[in-house]
Amino acid sequence: MSELRVGNGVDVHPLEIGRPMFLGGLAWPEETSGCAGHSDGDVMAHAICDALLSAAGLGDLGAVFGVEDPKWGGASGATLLQEVARLLSADGWTITNVSVQVIANSPKIGKRRDEVQQALSKALGGVPVSAAGTTSDGLGLTGRGEGIAAIATALLERP
Ligand code: MG
Repeated sequence: MSELRVGNGVDVHPLEIGRPMFLGGLAWPEETSGCAGHSDGDVMAHAICDALLSAAGLGDLGAVFGVEDPKWGGASGATLLQEVARLLSADGWTITNVSVQVIANSPKIGKRRDEVQQALSKALGGVPVSAAGTTSDGLGLTGRGEGIAAIATALLERP
């Protein structure tokens, strides 16, 4: 019997005018705001990292990378995903699939869904990733354009 584990992750970052937007492992050069943070602010990548770490029982992004550790300052979402995938693999886990949804007025993930899925999948070593987007209909921090949120679920298997 193999062991199956599911995990959830959520991330939110504030939007800052003039900052480059990185989301879903891609740059979005047409955006006039980007996510502020210690790293590149890729909320989709960060939510996935937390879902994976939670499923494996390995803690969370803050515990693994350190919120203030200069080693990870400006780190790309792909870099963090690669490192999390390495930790999981070292612990005997295989990633079955990942699902991630971003909550934002802009950018619209659907316009580049295939590219986003491929970028996130590649960072994790080729596992299936499905990416979706929604809005909060003008409500709350994402609706007012103050920030971007993402929620992710991951399924792991260990023989
Ligand atoms: Mg984050």
